[in-house]
Amino acid sequence: MLIDGHGRVVDYLRVSVTQRCNFRCKYCMPHTPFDWVPHENILKFEEMFEFIKVAIDEGVKKIRITGGEPLVRKDVDKFIKMISDYAPEIDLAMTTNGYFLKNYALILKQAGLKRINISLDTLDPKKAHFLAQKSVLHNVLEGFEAAIEANLIVKINTVALKGVNDNELISLLEFAKAHNSTIRFIEYMENIHANDELKSLKRDEILEIISQKYSIKEVGKVKNSPSTMYSIEDGYQFGIIDPHKHDFCDTCNRIRLSAEGLLIPCLYFDEALSIKDALRQNDIKKATEILREVLRNKPEKNRWENKISEHEISTRAFYQTGG
Ligand code: SAM
Ligand code: SF4
Repeated sequence: MLIDGHGRVVDYLRVSVTQRCNFRCKYCMPHTPFDWVPHENILKFEEMFEFIKVAIDEGVKKIRITGGEPLVRKDVDKFIKMISDYAPEIDLAMTTNGYFLKNYALILKQAGLKRINISLDTLDPKKAHFLAQKSVLHNVLEGFEAAIEANLIVKINTVALKGVNDNELISLLEFAKAHNSTIRFIEYMENIHANDELKSLKRDEILEIISQKYSIKEVGKVKNSPSTMYSIEDGYQFGIIDPHKHDFCDTCNRIRLSAEGLLIPCLYFDEALSIKDALRQNDIKKATEILREVLRNKPEKNRWENKISEHEISTRAFYQTGG
């Protein structure tokens, strides 16, 4: 079993398979030119898999494949099959922007993927273009339909942004409900790469908007997650992810592996250790030791509750950590 320095059981691994992405979401990507990490610095799937086997053997029960955009990496379906064949009982999930999903959904399901979270911030093609800096909505919606048809469990992630999609939160909720999908509204998280013109809608503002049409009851916090669930009068449940609180830190069960081989114990801290060299030298014992060291030093809580100043925000963007 993997236990961190604060006695928390860590059984959830998020694996970012690439930093690359076909979108340039304003809340995620730098707005000044930047270079991708060269291919040779990115772990091969076989290298990641060697680590994943250790993590599973040590008690990891849930793995989420993310990025960047995971579907831009060739053979990601084969990677999923490797994991699923090794441990069919693993809760295997992916987060994607959905753009390439139309042709991938069934293949992923057949490879062993169980659940998929699709990022959908708007149903307006112009706003989707504004946010992703590319015309994307048509493909994303086709991908969403394909995932439902492939019988994947599909959730929608919506970053709630003031003046951008506040007038669409109800239609997005109704869109999700009509497809038997759960929507989770995410508070925008400031980071030094993201466009500073964007402003988050906070939990109370999201609830106020939805309560203009529905009466809302709080259902409760989702275990090990920054998400709280709410229900409307017909029983439909939606979530709000409020990472600025740290009341989920007490039960935080996650660790992240980046595409470059960094083990990241907390999204909000820059500290991380690399297992790349250990994996390249086929030294699994060393990689396991590094894992244990990272867990020993996993921070007790994030630092978002303190007033965020320019110097306190995370220097890592989500495309680097996988969100
Ligand atoms: N490319 C995939 C996608 O967009 O779903 C997976 C990676 S993306 C980094 C994972 C999630 O992080 C997405 O749901 C995205 O909306 C969210 N995200 C990215 N930057 C964010 C930010 N600054 N604040 C809140 N959520 C953010
Ligand atoms: Fe790409 Fe996802 Fe970041 Fe958007 S949020 S730029 S789709 S990695």
